[in-house]
Amino acid sequence: MHEPSDFMRRFERKAPDDCWLWMGSLDKDGYGIYYYHGAIVRAQRFLCYFLWGANYFPPSFIVGTLCRNKRCMNPRHFIISTRSEVSKRIHEEQWKQGKHYARLTKDQIIAARKEFMGKRGDITRLARKYGTSVSTMNRIIHHKNCRGAK
Ligand SMILES: [Zn+2]
Repeated sequence: MHEPSDFMRRFERKAPDDCWLWMGSLDKDGYGIYYYHGAIVRAQRFLCYFLWGANYFPPSFIVGTLCRNKRCMNPRHFIISTRSEVSKRIHEEQWKQGKHYARLTKDQIIAARKEFMGKRGDITRLARKYGTSVSTMNRIIHHKNCRGAK
């Protein structure tokens, strides 16, 4: 890791419970970014590599923050997850909020049911086509808890 001091001086280490704000560049979403060997790396991600070593993390890992501060560089506020955990959690939250059919219109639900041939892999194919999870598509096809389209 070259010039760690260059990276470390781009944020201020404060009290353990405070947010440590990234003072360097930000991407269009407001997250800190760092240029490393010509590549752009999320600053939070880079800090994880720096602190724990790149081998510690799966390639798909994501850094979130408990404080929901996109510029926060306090590792105590980090939540490390993999993409599959994240999509699972998002799906669970949508399910709890009853948003699991929000993405499909009544017409789409009817169309999806018409396209369902009862073959192996159909649900997965339809889920991909309509952008739902497989379990959501399974419920849509089998009319479970489905409001709006009878
Ligand atoms: Zn924070």
